[in-house]
Amino acid sequence: MFSKILIANRGEIALRILRACRELGIKTVAVHSTADEDAMHVRLADEAVCIGPAASRDSYLNVAAILSAATITGAEAIHPGYGFLSENADFAETVEAHGLTFIGPTADHIRMMGDKITAKTTMEALGVPLVPGSDGELTSLDQARTVAEQVGYPVLIKATAGGGGRGMKVARDASEIEEAWSVARTEARTAFGNDAVYLEKYLDKPRHIELQILADNYGSVVHFGERDCSLQRRHQKLLEEAGSPVLTAEERDAIGRTATDALSKMGYRNAGTLEFLYQDGQFCFIEMNTRLQVEHPVTEMVCDVDLVREQIRIAAGEKLGYTQDDVTFSGHAIECRINAEDPDTFAPCPGTVAVYHPPGGLGVRVDSALYTGYRVPPYYDSMIAKVIVHAPTRAQAIARMHRALDEFVVEGIKTVIPLHRRILADPEFQKGDYTIHWLEQFTSRPH
Ligand code: ADP
Repeated sequence: MFSKILIANRGEIALRILRACRELGIKTVAVHSTADEDAMHVRLADEAVCIGPAASRDSYLNVAAILSAATITGAEAIHPGYGFLSENADFAETVEAHGLTFIGPTADHIRMMGDKITAKTTMEALGVPLVPGSDGELTSLDQARTVAEQVGYPVLIKATAGGGGRGMKVARDASEIEEAWSVARTEARTAFGNDAVYLEKYLDKPRHIELQILADNYGSVVHFGERDCSLQRRHQKLLEEAGSPVLTAEERDAIGRTATDALSKMGYRNAGTLEFLYQDGQFCFIEMNTRLQVEHPVTEMVCDVDLVREQIRIAAGEKLGYTQDDVTFSGHAIECRINAEDPDTFAPCPGTVAVYHPPGGLGVRVDSALYTGYRVPPYYDSMIAKVIVHAPTRAQAIARMHRALDEFVVEGIKTVIPLHRRILADPEFQKGDYTIHWLEQFTSRPH
């Protein structure tokens, strides 16, 4: 096992990783920007190194500074968390070239899945069902028109390098295809420096259902069931559940088998998530994330597993030590992402937290790096906390989340807690009757 790990991240996820390390008896090195000198992850780590100014590209994305920090502190491995460098294959490669362990999959697998066209063709060859669409990259507008006619409108033009919901444009009918093609390409070029795009049928009422996988270095692959992440705004998840309110145990087993078989044939290792759109009983693969996800805690609660601990154990060369039959599911878990945003306009609201009092009690978990007096810096993601509840049934989990959010005090900045309260009180949500389009419609209704 490692004796010291550098955590190349900030905020709640840096704390999350630090906690797993502590329980494993591993020393931690925090890295931080000048804007994060008083951050919780810096205060709690055994050692901390400033790696640059506030802007992410000069600090949390600064590979040379992070590697120097690892070298001078004698860290043996680097955990990248999510976001920042977590899906940067060159970073993973550089870390390993310096004789350190990257806690994650191989650079080749990160690269393969980072390109969505390659990801889809790879998964298709391994027997995973896809959303109908173009066979790889679109080479011309004419080809986009032809494929769109074949699969039927509406269609979605997507950037192969896309992420965070950017570089995606819908064409409802033939009159919109030219604009969708050029806007998606321009956005992809500006945001990702790569204007390659592909086309998918735009599904009208899918749910976003994803599967959590862990694989060790010796060919054992196990899945931990699904998360339903259909509640999204601008393709960004806001509330997640495990399990999905609509999936049966048989459906979970079947897609789980398809997914674990595929990753086993690939020789994948460490944690990964396969994302699917699910409609009319069919799963369609859209992408794979080769890292820990924000919403991993709902899986941890229902499966009673510490996914970060597992990632570290796998990276250290340990065997999983259990099989699919050992994975059991108990109760229901819900996560609400608490963003420092106006709950109606979604404008970011950084500032000083005048009072912070997190909820507690049976079945409530709060993953956050906030404290009273903390100044939320304007430079980074607006997510400041995750409230996770676990209860025997979905109805009890909803009641528990209501109760937890009522207890939660965050004064001095605006948050989306009032929006979560409204969602939880909605009869459609309570019935589990929602698709990926539900939240956009819900937030545009007067209240
Ligand atoms: P990103 O990497 O930017 O998150 P994804 O491919 O994961 O992009 O898609 C993000 C979200 O966009 C999905 O969760 C879903 O809500 C929506 N989406 C993606 N593909 C389709 C599609 N073919 N039809 C309808 N919605 C889609």
